[in-house]
Amino acid sequence: MKTLRFVLEAYRKNVRWTLVGVVSSLLGTACQVVIPVFFKLVIDELSPEAEVHRGIAAWGEGVVRALVGEQADVAVYIQASLGVAVAFAAALAVATFYKRYYLIRLSRKVEYELKKEMYEHLQNLPGRYYDAKRSGGLMSLMTSDVEAVRMMIGPAIMYLSSTLLLTPAALAIMLTLNATLTGFALLPLVGLALATLYFSPRVRRYSTLAQEDLEQISARAQENFAGARVVKAFAREEFEVRELDRLGEKYYRNKLAQARNSAFYGASIFVFGGLGILVILYFGAREIAASRFSIGDFLAFTLYNVQLYWPMIAIGWVTMLFVRGAASLERIFALLGEKPDLAQLPGGKRMTLRGEIEFRDVSLVYKEGSRPALDGVSFKLAPGRTLAIVGPVGSGKSSIANLLLRLIAPTSGAIFIDGIEIEKIDPVCLREQCGYVPQDSFLFSESVQDNIALGLRDDDAREQKVREAAKNAAFAEEVESLPSGYDTLLGERGVNLSGGQKQRAAIARALAKQPRIVVLDDCLSAVDTRTEDRILRALKQQTAGVTTLIIAQRISTVAHADEILVLDGGRVVERGTDESLRAKGGLYADLARRQELAEELA
Ligand code: ADP
Ligand code: MG
Repeated sequence: MKTLRFVLEAYRKNVRWTLVGVVSSLLGTACQVVIPVFFKLVIDELSPEAEVHRGIAAWGEGVVRALVGEQADVAVYIQASLGVAVAFAAALAVATFYKRYYLIRLSRKVEYELKKEMYEHLQNLPGRYYDAKRSGGLMSLMTSDVEAVRMMIGPAIMYLSSTLLLTPAALAIMLTLNATLTGFALLPLVGLALATLYFSPRVRRYSTLAQEDLEQISARAQENFAGARVVKAFAREEFEVRELDRLGEKYYRNKLAQARNSAFYGASIFVFGGLGILVILYFGAREIAASRFSIGDFLAFTLYNVQLYWPMIAIGWVTMLFVRGAASLERIFALLGEKPDLAQLPGGKRMTLRGEIEFRDVSLVYKEGSRPALDGVSFKLAPGRTLAIVGPVGSGKSSIANLLLRLIAPTSGAIFIDGIEIEKIDPVCLREQCGYVPQDSFLFSESVQDNIALGLRDDDAREQKVREAAKNAAFAEEVESLPSGYDTLLGERGVNLSGGQKQRAAIARALAKQPRIVVLDDCLSAVDTRTEDRILRALKQQTAGVTTLIIAQRISTVAHADEILVLDGGRVVERGTDESLRAKGGLYADLARRQELAEELA
């Protein structure tokens, strides 16, 4: 139902293209149908006992006579008949062009718009949607599923419209030529249709299965190559090869079954086609002998019979296009029906932030029924001050950062920035002014420069800002030593950075846009303490007056903060300055003592 509505809507929105396409298709089919008539006229003119023409043949004769007159001699009559046939063939060519051009154009437009809508929708879906989906699945939704819908919109209607006219028209003409013979000739055609209905779903099923196998093989191989080091380190090569072998064999078997079915199908087309000729030859000859059928009729009849092959094959094909398109459209609708994250949608107050942050009794439950990730967290941070959060893994530190950026919404409680509830602030505006370094930052396969400039608008100072930020992230010297400096490509097409370098690139990216609030989520874990010290000092200088939220495992990272929260199991268990917390002798003091001991030992 929804599929039908979508398809009709697509035609309605592009009604002019649809009309041109369908009308061209019908006109072309009409030309195709009348052409054999003129061949018949030519042949019959040559046979001495040519009889009176009936039906459409009478019309064709009328056309030719109108051109050459009643008394024209045989040669002129034949030339005129062939000329008319050629004219119809030329018209058929032109109509075919318009049919294909406009219907394919229409389907490409639908494809383009659908992809755009899906992509835009995906941008507004919450992060947890992506957590639950394999990116390969999303890719095939954007490619092969959209392609299936395109095939349903364009080619399917193309074949459907011509088939719907061609079949009855050709049959009707055949009936006027010779009713008995038509009855006999229909039998092989019905056989062809049945073969299509039998084989075509089988070919499709095995082809789909093979396609799925292939996707699994690619996904497996891709993971294997990406994780090649891990595979080797754990001596898993043999297992991986066996696994791929198993998938490969399944693929092979399905492909083979597909080939077997399409080979049988191809053979049956020949068999029924041959049977058709045989039937027409046998019964046609008898009809000719009985003078109920001319040689010209015989030729035309054979041509119509051949014209009817394709519609019989197209039945299966068009059905397949619709079934597949509907299934794909269903998946696409499921994606488009996913609720966008309200926190992601633009809208709300746009303002320049001063940088005051307040969490008021904030709790967060990720999945209903599970233990809260945060439980009644409250703190207030004046503009320009630095708040540090420490705590064991899983204590809820990153959740606080995500809440502040509105990447997720709290289950209860409220978050304020500059005294305004965070839901009322435009998320884009908020994020533009927040320099966020996530725990595992992602670098794009672009140049160092473009990666750092990710949050920048294009302006003249871009390069200057990138360099400045790299310096403040203690990354500048290393960038200079890369093969092409700031233009060095990263990732799959370029160099790989070390963990510490990646972290500093991410810090530079956050600093480059000169944010009002900086959020550093455990982003110094992969650099040594000396570099950390350098970064922190540079940071302190550059972010003087910038509100900073710094999340860390290491006490040394947070010691300088104005206030420190110690988080455990989603609750704030201690708060104070480095000094007061050490004096208190709680979790923080304990953590500090152990880390200093470890450092001394190292
Ligand atoms: P930390 O940064 O201190 O290690 P997190 O804030 O990442 O802690 O996580 C806090 C708790 O919330 C953990 O128990 C974690 O398993 C859970 N959690 C984090 N992210 C998600 C998520 N996207 N879905 C479900 N649970 C999550
Ligand atoms: Mg974390």
